[in-house]
Amino acid sequence: MKMLRNVISLLPLALAATMHSASAAGPDERPVCTPELLLRKTVADRATPSCKDLSKSPLDLRKTKDEADGVLFNYALVGKREHRSAIENFGRNSSAADSKRALEIAKEARQYAIDYITGKRDETTWSTETKAIVERIKALEFRISELSDGDCYDYGDVGYPQAAYNSFEHTIGICVSMAKTHSEGIFATIAHEIGHAVSSCNMKIPLVKYEEITTDDTRCLLGLDENNFDIREEDLDMETQRVVRAHREVKQGLDLDPQSTDLFAKCGRATRVLGSALSEVTAFKAFDACATKRFAKDYRKYVAAKVFHWDELPPRLSPQFQALADKFMSENPQSCYRKAEENFADTFSAHLVALRHAKEFSHRSPQASHDAYSEAVFDLTSTYCVGRIEGRNLSNPHLYPNDRDRVLTYFTPPYAQNFLNCRNLDQNLCTLPLDPASYTSPSTPASSSPARDRGRVR
Ligand SMILES: [Zn+2]
Repeated sequence: MKMLRNVISLLPLALAATMHSASAAGPDERPVCTPELLLRKTVADRATPSCKDLSKSPLDLRKTKDEADGVLFNYALVGKREHRSAIENFGRNSSAADSKRALEIAKEARQYAIDYITGKRDETTWSTETKAIVERIKALEFRISELSDGDCYDYGDVGYPQAAYNSFEHTIGICVSMAKTHSEGIFATIAHEIGHAVSSCNMKIPLVKYEEITTDDTRCLLGLDENNFDIREEDLDMETQRVVRAHREVKQGLDLDPQSTDLFAKCGRATRVLGSALSEVTAFKAFDACATKRFAKDYRKYVAAKVFHWDELPPRLSPQFQALADKFMSENPQSCYRKAEENFADTFSAHLVALRHAKEFSHRSPQASHDAYSEAVFDLTSTYCVGRIEGRNLSNPHLYPNDRDRVLTYFTPPYAQNFLNCRNLDQNLCTLPLDPASYTSPSTPASSSPARDRGRVR
């Protein structure tokens, strides 16, 4: 008897050690964490109770226009012809106050990203890996992008709220349309973009700092000695001219074009940041292995579509076709497949959103905190509705996981489930560690310096 009691009293401890304890502890009365749950929380008191009604609602879902926070943008309307001009106009400009607020939220997201990566441990205990990731997050620049910028153009609708990570410049562009939306959504979106900046795929590529490139650099770029007469930019070959023009305004960026970087480095115009690349990110290793498995089939379809315009890749290819497929796959490895990359960015964002809510909203009423959480991932929830109602996916299927899985990703951090008081819908989604810093050993001697990655080709 006594022994049995001991076993029982030990049980809660053992369960606490495994994160998904709820189902093992007996019937869990909490509702399942689903997009519908978030939607209900978001629109219940907004006269828009379901996905269906969302497609009949206005673009701006706020109850009153004078609500202090920004627009709760109805993404369910994106892609509909009759809303095209309204959405384009929405994306045309934002007030200085909105832009300022968005940039402040971006800085807040940056801090949450650093806290998440470091587990808020003292800097002296950071591993080489932790340092490299934090440095990369710190180096990010945020800007407000115009409607016409590449960051903001989309084939679905021009002008709908979004942001983009530009690896060439290592910046996050926040579209003016995004700057006008609800602060929760801005945070979640920027958190997603920060995820791109530190993904395993991008961490393989070193960061480069550029000096201003002037006409005086032309002589060096042409490899001419000092005695040579005046050289103008027009004397450079077409390719070098193109590279110089592309880099003229760039202050920093990922080393996407090592040959050009070598050229600029030779002339003192570029420096690869020592220790900024990692051949592997230990903290994300389990996630990457899971995502590789999860998207293996999709990747094969992607190769089939890109190389042969087929829907599927047959199990066997002729030697010539196999060579074509191999070439494409070596240039576009599965480790950098966009779908897995986007899944990583969503999962990274999910942690930041959950951490922020645990900190900022825990003292508020459950309803207020649930509403805030819903608004954070409302854009995904409402794009999910588009698929639900109309059976169409807003995004290219080779770019993003399906919309339902994208919303479900936001429930993978256990603290999100606790916070929303819902239980996990086990969909075998890939998860990131709660505490990445604990996955990497603390500061190590110089022998493990990632400097060996300098100049590597992507
Ligand atoms: Zn993305």
